[in-house]
Amino acid sequence: MLPKVVIHNSISLDEPLTNFEPNMELHYRIAGNYKPQVHLIGSNTVKVGIELFAKRRDTPPSECTGDQLGEDKALKDYHAKRDFKATAEPQGSDEKTKGTSKIFVVQEHQARRLHYDFRLERDGVLKSWAVPKGIPENTADKRLAVETEDHPIDYAQFEGTIPEGQYGAGTVTIWDKGTYETKVWNEKMIEFTLHGKKLTGRYVLVRLKRGGDKNWLMLKGKE
Ligand code: MN
Repeated sequence: MLPKVVIHNSISLDEPLTNFEPNMELHYRIAGNYKPQVHLIGSNTVKVGIELFAKRRDTPPSECTGDQLGEDKALKDYHAKRDFKATAEPQGSDEKTKGTSKIFVVQEHQARRLHYDFRLERDGVLKSWAVPKGIPENTADKRLAVETEDHPIDYAQFEGTIPEGQYGAGTVTIWDKGTYETKVWNEKMIEFTLHGKKLTGRYVLVRLKRGGDKNWLMLKGKE
């Protein structure tokens, strides 16, 4: 039988729960109104889950799914794919970036297939795309850029070998890095100016309508 935890409305939302086990059934009771339940999927998600929930008071608890209660909502997918005992990739710290200039990085990733990971700092994470054929250097180039999970900011410093059997196994080297300025950032299009060593000037990412919402085209803009 799954263990159960009853959270009363009097509980301190900052208080970590002990004895948590994966797939524990969690019953909420907030202000006596709701008695919903969620199945938590991680091993240490409870505390953060409750914190998130506290922030989501506007949302009826019955609408909170396990996914919404991720350990670190911003990097949930990133964490889920990696075993940090096996890989030297950064776990990501809570440290917020200082200053206003945003960084970009391109990492050459010699994985099962060579590709270039293009990352732009935004909202405390690195928004990321895998660009199989490399970043366009001419205005005539159109390159597929497949959106991947957000990475922690300190991933921009990462170079090294991800061990065999781990997600993204292979070698990562920094191909270019620098700062960038956003001109446009919406659901359909991102336009920005790069200030790197190899890459400079205007670039555009356009979301493709077909092929799922993870596929973008990366173009070098005319100056
Ligand atoms: Mn990669």
